[in-house]
Amino acid sequence: MTKRNSIPPMKEEFAAYRRELHQNPGLMYEEHFSKEMVEKKLSEWGIPFRAGLGKTGIVAIIEGQKNTSGKTIGIRADMDALPIEEASNQPWASKTKGLMHACGHDGHTATLLGVAKYLKETRNFNGRAILIFQPAEEGGRGAFAMMKDGLFEGDLKCDAVYAYHNWPYQPIGTAGIRSGAIMASVDNFDIAITGRSGHAAYPHNCIDPVMIGASLVTQLQSIVARNVPPQECAVLSVTNFNAGTGAYNIIPDTAKITGTVRTLSPATRDLVEARMKTICEEVGKTHNAKIDFHYDREIDPTINDARHTDIIADAAARVLGNENVYRDIEPSMGGEDFGGMLAKVPGAYIRIGQGVPGKDSPHNRGLHNSGFDFNDDILPIAIDVFVEVIESQLPLE
Ligand SMILES: [Zn+2]
Ligand SMILES: [Zn+2]
Repeated sequence: MTKRNSIPPMKEEFAAYRRELHQNPGLMYEEHFSKEMVEKKLSEWGIPFRAGLGKTGIVAIIEGQKNTSGKTIGIRADMDALPIEEASNQPWASKTKGLMHACGHDGHTATLLGVAKYLKETRNFNGRAILIFQPAEEGGRGAFAMMKDGLFEGDLKCDAVYAYHNWPYQPIGTAGIRSGAIMASVDNFDIAITGRSGHAAYPHNCIDPVMIGASLVTQLQSIVARNVPPQECAVLSVTNFNAGTGAYNIIPDTAKITGTVRTLSPATRDLVEARMKTICEEVGKTHNAKIDFHYDREIDPTINDARHTDIIADAAARVLGNENVYRDIEPSMGGEDFGGMLAKVPGAYIRIGQGVPGKDSPHNRGLHNSGFDFNDDILPIAIDVFVEVIESQLPLE
């Protein structure tokens, strides 16, 4: 089901672009094929754009038939692929060994191209649309790189910004959203323990970083269990613990512990970081070891503004039917750098279902799975939802 009769026939054209994008994946800041295709299509359709925001990022600008509203709405798509060997067996599988679009950003890019072409042909709105083709969502902080290069400033200032992710865990024909946090913050930590090495038979002459590290790992787990309020969500995972030379009889000098923290609110994020710092200091003091604690705030939680959640959920309801838009889905503890954009400009992020129930389909594989493939059938849905947001929020009359 779509709202505009002229959108479903666009599917074949944009599915063809999507498959070309899929065959030619690029890692963060190396989305050269995608960048060239976006620039070529925008030029063909006579849409002005600015390139070079966040290296490979592009922003297209479309003026409505009128601009007396003075308002600008941004729509963002990510473009990057992942270092995964593709096993989807689709005819348009990646041509580059070890690289694939396993998160469907090829589909997001094709969707935004479809929005661009439709809006340029119809210009059925009063104001401006800016279409943000973003690099490096997968751990490269591409959203931040674009903002550093002037996105949302000057004539790229936006009153609202929206984005979507294809969602293989939900059937096609549905959408999911919630007001408030929908994706978690992503922070990484590095802990370096410096003790004193020596013979394992004489531990009293050493400061043992392995034992101190083991104690630290256990105590860090008490933060989520005992400090974070039970109704709040937080994850603290230690993912690496490196120490020792391989010898049976040497207590090493140092141990290194690294991991990730995910939270859904700024307050919980502050709490976890502060508690980690205190535990490191206290454990260091207790065991007379030097403990260096380094905490990197990589990505903000993706927090949907209540009003803009309603705006895009209502738009999706007009495209898919109200009963097919779930407005109180569970948040994910995964991260999304669109959260960085939402920290600057109000807006919302929606999931559009692409699963095919009852079938063994690549569209049902999880994100980042080597067998995953974006479902081209959701292109007309996603294009329609964004067009609906723009035309309903920037009405001509
Ligand atoms: Zn991903
Ligand atoms: Zn993704």
